[in-house]
Amino acid sequence: MDAQRIAALSSAGVAVDVVAETGSTNADLLARAATLSAPLLLIAEHQTAGRGRAGRSWLSAPGHSLTFSLAWRFEGGLPALAGLPLAVGTALAETLGRLGQPVQLKWPNDLLKDGDKLAGILVETQAAAAGTWAIVGIGLNLAMPDELEERIGRPVAAVPWLARMDRDALMAALLDGLAQALQAFAAKGFAAFSARWNLLHAYQGQPVTIVDRGEVLHEGLAAGVDDGGRLLLDTEDGRIAIVAGDVSLRVKT
Ligand code: ATP
Repeated sequence: MDAQRIAALSSAGVAVDVVAETGSTNADLLARAATLSAPLLLIAEHQTAGRGRAGRSWLSAPGHSLTFSLAWRFEGGLPALAGLPLAVGTALAETLGRLGQPVQLKWPNDLLKDGDKLAGILVETQAAAAGTWAIVGIGLNLAMPDELEERIGRPVAAVPWLARMDRDALMAALLDGLAQALQAFAAKGFAAFSARWNLLHAYQGQPVTIVDRGEVLHEGLAAGVDDGGRLLLDTEDGRIAIVAGDVSLRVKT
């Protein structure tokens, strides 16, 4: 991929860096956050130690995935960033939809295609002299070699049709969607995204459980998200709102 070409194809005005290989683009940008003065997109052609939530791994194969992170500074502290991963998911899903690939959202931070995970989002933060740096990391499967699917150990999705698209143009379109979303989030918070997120919700009205390291904490019907990005769950005892933390959602079988 070509950093200059991506920057030229994008209208976001964000600096772009491409590296052939690194452990984690999120780790790299977190390490550089203190020295940044403007947003930066870091793309790895190959990411060897991609991170998910709670120490989980994001696996990818060179040439078959997009793995990148965008550093963005927000005014204010951490509480203002509640809902940011969901806003990022909304922006990614809408961009993929515009490119002819309809996808759905799984609370809190995944993109699904036909029920399987297509992309993961990991937002990490670091306090800045003024405000907070958010490092928005994204892994998106373009193609899925059998060997990689075996290593992941569960059914996963890919978008082979987009894999054939000009990679720099695809990256520029994703960057534009993300930059717009981060600006809107800074101005209006997740309230600007909740209705859009709910339109793309994979499990609306479906029975789900909320689990924490294998233990079921809640079960009920998924009723979308509120303006703070919390999952609304209609349980036997009424509606409750769940904060993302490290809990996971599972479809009830
Ligand atoms: P869940 O909500 O499904 O429990 P999560 O959203 O917390 O998980 P993340 O931390 O975002 O998951 O992502 C890590 C998980 O994603 C891994 O544990 C693995 O199961 C799965 N995974 C890893 N690499 C890929 C990939 N390339 N495509 C799809 N899924 C992947």
